[in-house]
Amino acid sequence: MYLKTENKNECSGCTACKNICPKNAIKMVEDEKGFKYPKIDKEKCIECGACYRICPNIKKEEKNSIIEAYGVKHKDEKERITSRSGGVFVALSDYILGQGGVVYGVKQNKDFTVCHSRAENKEQRDEFKGSKYIQSDMNDIIKKVKQDLKENKKVLFSGTPCQVHAVKVSVPEKYQENLYTCDLICHGVPSEKIFKEFLKYIEATAGKKIKEFNFRDKRFGWETHYETSIFDDGTEISTQFFRNLFYGHNILRPSCYNCNYANTHRPADITIADFWGIENVAPEFLDKKGVSLTIINNEKGKKWFENVKQDLQIINCSIEDCIKYTYTLSNATPEGEQMEEFWKDYKQYDFKYIIEKYASK
Ligand SMILES: Cc1cc2nc3c(=O)[nH]c(=O)nc-3n(C[C@H](O)[C@H](O)[C@H](O)COP(=O)(O)OP(=O)(O)OC[C@H]3O[C@@H](n4cnc5c(N)ncnc54)[C@H](O)[C@@H]3O)c2cc1C
Ligand code: SF4
Ligand code: SF4
Repeated sequence: MYLKTENKNECSGCTACKNICPKNAIKMVEDEKGFKYPKIDKEKCIECGACYRICPNIKKEEKNSIIEAYGVKHKDEKERITSRSGGVFVALSDYILGQGGVVYGVKQNKDFTVCHSRAENKEQRDEFKGSKYIQSDMNDIIKKVKQDLKENKKVLFSGTPCQVHAVKVSVPEKYQENLYTCDLICHGVPSEKIFKEFLKYIEATAGKKIKEFNFRDKRFGWETHYETSIFDDGTEISTQFFRNLFYGHNILRPSCYNCNYANTHRPADITIADFWGIENVAPEFLDKKGVSLTIINNEKGKKWFENVKQDLQIINCSIEDCIKYTYTLSNATPEGEQMEEFWKDYKQYDFKYIIEKYASK
């Protein structure tokens, strides 16, 4: 495990070790590629071993197995248009908020970094809608989740599977009943450092400041992938540069190429994704506004989904079909063929060169 070996393939940056440390001796420190890893302050460490024991990379727990799968569209078109795929997350989180619970998810900050945050109402929750294709900063969010559960609140935690797993191993058994979890089918998380370079490049090329950024602009349709930068003078530009860098597979976190969650044993109660392949499974259900694949992983997820069905249009889907069209349910994303060359070039050349060589095709 990373804390002993410093092998970056073994650390998803989930922060479980940082959050369990009774002496606050662990900080997350960014490396030269922009990914954060735990660093132990030897002066503060009392060698209790809590950080080793909690690491989801080694901590074994009973694993779920897919029990049902559905194609889902939120009945409210506005919710669907403002969500990444079919808006199933809105329905799942509305249920928890309606029970007086709180929702944890990922929002974009004013400086375009992304982080996990806590929502007590729909307005705050709406900031979590839409996929932000970089790793979110979990900071001390696990502590907050535990505090809410101690206060007997229902809690929905949503995030990548490694983040959900970190929360689940960190919450004591006696508080698990009120914890509802939702993970994503995950392609991997690109480097935040490269994302910031990309934003600087767009600003320099346009000669204007970006005031808003959308990782995947649904005005172009659900299936296409354009990112949009809106400038402070109200003009905007839509590009595919960051999308191309993402799918080039050179800039993902090392653990993503070795992902422990690229399979059907999901850490969460419910898994959500874009329903790619819907045109083959149920063509009559396809439309440009988006369809969510919704996978039920255990009995708790099944009951939860039953309670939100009235907000959704639903079709049944076989487990074979959802595996067939969803690559990372059976394989981790492979390393890009030019990965080493990419990082060498990044050190040596300016970002215009990187965009032209790696992001323009
Ligand atoms: C990094 C990343 C990679 C993904 N890879 C795939 C993929 O390969 N295949 C696929 O089918 N779907 C993938 N998805 C999931 C997909 O984009 C949608 O989240 C899913 O279709 C749910 O749609 P919705 O309309 O219900 O979600 P929305 O309403 O758009 O809900 C967004 C949900 O995503 C969470 N979220 C947003 N950004 C992040 C982030 N950076 N880290 C963790 N959680 C985040 C929010 O907390 C919220 O729970 C990925 C998402 C992310 C963030
Ligand atoms: S607990 Fe998470 S952040 Fe800490 S070493 Fe393990 S994977 Fe990395
Ligand atoms: S690909 Fe795996 S390791 Fe990477 S962010 Fe997603 S779940 Fe975590």
